Amino acid sequence: MIFLMKKLLQKADGSESAQPVAEAKPQVPKARARSEAELERQIEKVKRDLAALGDLRPGSLSTQYNVCGTPGCRCKATPPQKHGPYYQVSFSRKGKSSSKFVRIEDLPAIEKQLKNYERMKELVDRWIDLATELSNLRLIQNRA
Ligand SMILES: [Zn+2]
Repeated sequence: MIFLMKKLLQKADGSESAQPVAEAKPQVPKARARSEAELERQIEKVKRDLAALGDLRPGSLSTQYNVCGTPGCRCKATPPQKHGPYYQVSFSRKGKSSSKFVRIEDLPAIEKQLKNYERMKELVDRWIDLATELSNLRLIQNRA
């Protein structure tokens, strides 16, 4: 089976074929070509890692300091001692930007959620790459 796959991959490279390159060929880089079983294993690992992710939220954390409207407040002194820090998470969903203030005691949880979201995106990206490579490999095999 493995032998057959290698042979097919070579053919898909065009190296042995006399046909013009016009025919659409799946992109399977030779140097990092992985077997079907290896790709399936790696995809299963991605799924397990995704399932193990905890709470998540998109966005980025920022800090702000404010000036209030109270006359003679320390925020208008020289130098000013502005109010804050206030923490907020800015995010964009379905084309709409929003932000949400975060209580300082919630910061550790929010930071973990933001990190999990980034991790989720990395894993999904990896899944897409692996799945595309696997699908290409199967297309080539089906030509046999
Ligand atoms: Zn003030």
